[in-house]
Amino acid sequence: MSLVRKIVNVALRKAPLGLLVVVTSILPLLIFDWRSTNAARPNVNKYSFYNTPAIRLLPVDPVLEKDFPPPTFTKKVKVGKDDTLINLLKREGVALENAHKAVKALSKFYDPRRTKPGQEITLVLTPQTSGPNNNIIQRMVVRPSIYNEITIALIDDQRFRVSKQTFAVKRRLFKENGSIKTSLYEAAIKSGVPKPILMELIRIYSWDVDFQRGIRVGDKFEVLFEKLFTENGKFARFGNVVYGNLILRGENNPLYRYRTSKGIIGYFDNKGKSARKALMRTPINGARLSSGFGKRRHPILGYNKLHRGVDFSAPRGTPVYAAGSGSIVKKGRNGAYGNYIRVRHGSKFETAYAHLSRFKPGIRIGARVRQGAIIGYVGSTGRSTGPHLHYEILKNNTQINPLRLKMPSGKRLAGNELALFSSVQAKLEQQYTALDTNHK
Ligand SMILES: [Zn+2]
Repeated sequence: MSLVRKIVNVALRKAPLGLLVVVTSILPLLIFDWRSTNAARPNVNKYSFYNTPAIRLLPVDPVLEKDFPPPTFTKKVKVGKDDTLINLLKREGVALENAHKAVKALSKFYDPRRTKPGQEITLVLTPQTSGPNNNIIQRMVVRPSIYNEITIALIDDQRFRVSKQTFAVKRRLFKENGSIKTSLYEAAIKSGVPKPILMELIRIYSWDVDFQRGIRVGDKFEVLFEKLFTENGKFARFGNVVYGNLILRGENNPLYRYRTSKGIIGYFDNKGKSARKALMRTPINGARLSSGFGKRRHPILGYNKLHRGVDFSAPRGTPVYAAGSGSIVKKGRNGAYGNYIRVRHGSKFETAYAHLSRFKPGIRIGARVRQGAIIGYVGSTGRSTGPHLHYEILKNNTQINPLRLKMPSGKRLAGNELALFSSVQAKLEQQYTALDTNHK
């Protein structure tokens, strides 16, 4: 005998109490059955994920279902190479007019042209019922940097509301050091210097050091740099190199990152001299320019010839300075140039000094010289009519006019600025010493 008939039999004997029992026991069974049938119909059930009125949970006539708008969905998309924001939206099937309105709204806080490949964009879209390229943007979230996020939200058919959120970012310092066996690159990577930090380290030293030829086995490096973290402690990106030191042939070459009171950020050595040094246009004191760069009638050869340097007339024995810090690449007799020195400054520039009477003792090929150090003395060796310095600047191995060369000025901090720099310098050194390379 079934459960229902049993209940009915009891009800027939004990009515009207029985009638109440029938109603309270059978009805829930029926409702339960009816709801589970509906749960198995995914087309109806999926609406429960969206903020639609609860009434849609009730059984819906399949014919009427077509009248409900399709559900909104969220998609994270990555900007492709050579992608514009509009192209990306088109590809995601966004209706063109809506896409243009969205980009226009976004541009209140964000330049769409600065959209970079790999950047992630969050889209909340509602497909329209008919036709292709008919998605409507409900929300779009763009994060141009770890510091901020821009959101647009559709408020009616035509308009978007734009908002910008700013995030706090924490900077933490890390240090690495090591000894060079083959190249700075290899040594730094091996000791765990992140690649972007290494590239920055190489860049700030490029005025003084030629990384292909200027580094020797046993030279050392030190670096203190920043890593940026989001509020919740997640690594976001690498920051700046704040201190670097290349120990070349046992000599320290420290550089400190410093922001001047005028807001100019640069790297300065321990004397407050900018790492971005200009090559000296006149590497000699009290000299008179006697012949410029360019075509001229040669005083000895007697015909027109391109003069690839500038001549400074000066008494024999006048000291000649290294125009910039670097390393000696040539030294000795060099045909018509007479006694000749060539200094390499970084990877692009070299300077040459000719007709010297003699070289400064201790100057030899491979030695490092500082800007302004004496390297030799004025003479008249080689093809020369009288004591003078023939000076050349070579950029990528070609002589250029030293007087026309535009170079960043070799700024030197002084007075109060130098005092401020010194305190930053002391702090950076202290931070470097306090840190441990295992502190990762
Ligand atoms: Zn000359």
